[in-house]
Amino acid sequence: LFISFEGIDGSGKSTQARLLADHLRAMGHDVVLTREPGGSPGAEEIRALVLQGDPDRWSAETELLLFTAARRDHLERLIRPALAEGKIVITDRFADSSRIYQGTRSGDLRDTVDKLHELMIGQEPDLTFLIDMDPETGLARAKGRGGDEERFEDFGADLQKLMRKGFLALAERAPDRFRVIDGGRDMVTVASEVAKLAEDALT
Ligand code: C5P
Repeated sequence: LFISFEGIDGSGKSTQARLLADHLRAMGHDVVLTREPGGSPGAEEIRALVLQGDPDRWSAETELLLFTAARRDHLERLIRPALAEGKIVITDRFADSSRIYQGTRSGDLRDTVDKLHELMIGQEPDLTFLIDMDPETGLARAKGRGGDEERFEDFGADLQKLMRKGFLALAERAPDRFRVIDGGRDMVTVASEVAKLAEDALT
């Protein structure tokens, strides 16, 4: 089973991904917990290229190619082999993040994102948890976390609102795959809803 977590910065998706991994492991499942950009040595190197340094270093198109290259490596080296061994793979972000961030953040590259995805990735998660969150709360949480190398967290609330809308629209278009979770509630309540839905998918 291939599970992804998506959501805006500060939505709590990384925490929820970790809690679900812990929960499924406690049930005896073999779980690989990973993240994007990154997740394999090569993709982690690309992560440093896209998330560190001058934000204007890459054009929107080059950035999309780098994210896609990272995803391809992640898929080849980690995700597909783990799935082939019957493991559960949980990833903190996958292609939906590119549909929203690379596809809509700097102009409209949605078509290009979809074409590249079809050419180079061609795989969707079986289940995607969209941890939905009010952008102001998300932004405050992301800032509070601090100490990260990440440049994208400078997003203003307006951009976060657009990203949230984008994620919700994606979820509407693929209701079989997406589960939209209200991330504004306390961590334990969110985690138990996620766990229940994941267990349903496993049976
Ligand atoms: O998930 P995480 O918060 O670690 O992501 C790091 C940053 O990378 C985020 O601020 C996110 O907006 C950005 N990102 C992106 N495009 C992706 C994945 C992540 O711009 N495809």
